[in-house]
Amino acid sequence: MDSSFVESRSLEALSKFKFHIFTGICLFMHISLFVYCLLFSVIPLMIFNIGSILCYVICFALLKKGKTEISFYIGYIEIILHAFAATLILGHSFGFSLYFLVTVPMVFNLLHDYNDKKSARRSLILVFLSFILYTCSYALSCIYEPICHSDAIDKTVMFLFLVNSLSAFVIASIFSLIFIYEADEAMNKLYNKNKELNVLANRDTLTGLYNRRTMTEHVMKMYEDYEKSHSPFALVICDIDDFKKVNDSLGHDCGDVVLKEIARVLTSLTRENDFLCRWGGEEFLILLNQIERNTAKEIAERFRAKISEAEIRYKDTVLSVTMTFGVSDARESDSYESMFRLADNRLYEGKENGKNQVV
Ligand code: GH3
Ligand code: MG
Ligand code: MG
Repeated sequence: MDSSFVESRSLEALSKFKFHIFTGICLFMHISLFVYCLLFSVIPLMIFNIGSILCYVICFALLKKGKTEISFYIGYIEIILHAFAATLILGHSFGFSLYFLVTVPMVFNLLHDYNDKKSARRSLILVFLSFILYTCSYALSCIYEPICHSDAIDKTVMFLFLVNSLSAFVIASIFSLIFIYEADEAMNKLYNKNKELNVLANRDTLTGLYNRRTMTEHVMKMYEDYEKSHSPFALVICDIDDFKKVNDSLGHDCGDVVLKEIARVLTSLTRENDFLCRWGGEEFLILLNQIERNTAKEIAERFRAKISEAEIRYKDTVLSVTMTFGVSDARESDSYESMFRLADNRLYEGKENGKNQVV
């Protein structure tokens, strides 16, 4: 199976898009903060913000070149340095330290790579770094007075705290939602792959019918049920007569067309709760539910007639084939294996007695 989950188109698009979301949000916030610093003359932070804005312009240029990882690291370093500097410049009550916490969902989401086992370790190292700077900035801001303080700035403490809190919660939610979406997509992909594998494991690729393994399991289960409930069921095994001649005279491709056509006719003749499989080469096995041998023989006779009447077209040739049938039912057998054996022996008998018949 494919080892990469990040290959569905929507996931691939999202994995690129989320770096743009990250860079876009950061750029927008720093431009807003730049305006704030300008209004309230917070010069050191304003200078820092010019650097931050430049950082994210560079990040966008790197993203355009497909260098997502370098762009992410630049963005991450900018966030923690800015949160550190802003806490020391204005004081921790302005809420800039919340951005240290926001790096947690961001780092895990943006750095996580299903194909790289070391990505979780890298994320943990960055989270640890965020934690160190977070505690240091808090401790330093408790020991030292803020670098910039004035009455005007102090009046904005609640406003800036709210803006920072809201931004932090929104960003953390966005990255958590992206994570959920990616997990859902990966689950869907796994589910669909499983379905495909199930079909491959249970079906015959040429005819699309159930294969021998699935039929054997089904008959085993039916026989177990029969031992408890005694509700009847019959097996009809059928084999194309002189099929080798079809292959020899018209080619293997023609033989395949005949097999598909027989599968189609048999499918159209069976009921929903019957079970039809390609038993092997040119043999088919049908389980007829709630039916005893005599009725099963009548049904098989109908199958035989329909198949012998069917006109099979291959290129410019129209051909028809006949089939021989062996029928057994649960009542005359003491195990599911003996049901197979009985039906098979009767098929052999039919072949010996001139083919194109039901035994
Ligand atoms: P009989 O009437 O006794 O059943 O004779 P037969 O020729 O049908 O039986 P035989 O066992 O001699 O030959 C069966 C042939 O079926 C041989 C094999 O090449 C062919 N066959 C088996 N599977 C396939 C398949 O998937 N495609 C094609 N085209 N031929 C197949
Ligand atoms: Mg045959
Ligand atoms: Mg055969």
